[in-house]
Amino acid sequence: MNWTELYQKAVTFSYDDGVLQDLRLVGILNRYGLKGTFNVNSGLGRKNGSFTYGNDSVGRYDFAELVPIYAGHEVAMHTVSHPRLTDLGRSDIIFEIERDRRAIETVFGTRPIGLAYPFGAYDDRVVAILKDLGVTYARTVETEHSFRFQTDLLRYRPTCHHNDPALFDLIRAFLDEPASEPRILSIWGHSYEFDADRNWDRFETICRLLADRDDVFTGSNAEVLSDCGNQFGTASKGMKP
Ligand SMILES: [Zn+2]
Repeated sequence: MNWTELYQKAVTFSYDDGVLQDLRLVGILNRYGLKGTFNVNSGLGRKNGSFTYGNDSVGRYDFAELVPIYAGHEVAMHTVSHPRLTDLGRSDIIFEIERDRRAIETVFGTRPIGLAYPFGAYDDRVVAILKDLGVTYARTVETEHSFRFQTDLLRYRPTCHHNDPALFDLIRAFLDEPASEPRILSIWGHSYEFDADRNWDRFETICRLLADRDDVFTGSNAEVLSDCGNQFGTASKGMKP
């Protein structure tokens, strides 16, 4: 589907780690008719996946439990065990990606085409390996602060994190300014941060502002990025500037 044939603006969300708070987050997205991408670690679950964030202990779902939760959204890779890919040799990187891809395919019944870098860590060597493996897009944690179509989807920079102080100004600009060419608003984060920061109301506000807009396409990362030129599938070959 080419959303740019019908829309000039698209919004997408990207949330990582398959944590217990994703249930609440997906509930909010669904209520507002918005779509997200969930980047999951197939080797981590209830028994071995807990971690500490601030004063909070954060738990993960077992992989199979996530299937009904993410229905209607995109499931993408986040590697098997959440290592820094930049610390690994080539064969370990291939294992972390291929095995995660296969597990998602088996459990969710869809072949993932994208990923989010664990810890946001990547370099040219990692990108080259992902390209060899046929990964279509890879989301970084770098702040773009713009809505432009990007030329390198294996170094994809979201517009900003959900806690970015500029977020509401960006949303206003995204919604109010006339777009002469297609624009993407891409928000990322971790749902456990809303518990730790006690700011679930912020996510509600974000979704309320972006919902029910006739002029905004709502899609997963894959759906929204697929219109970044005609090169989807050979992502790093470049797109419209
Ligand atoms: Zn992560």
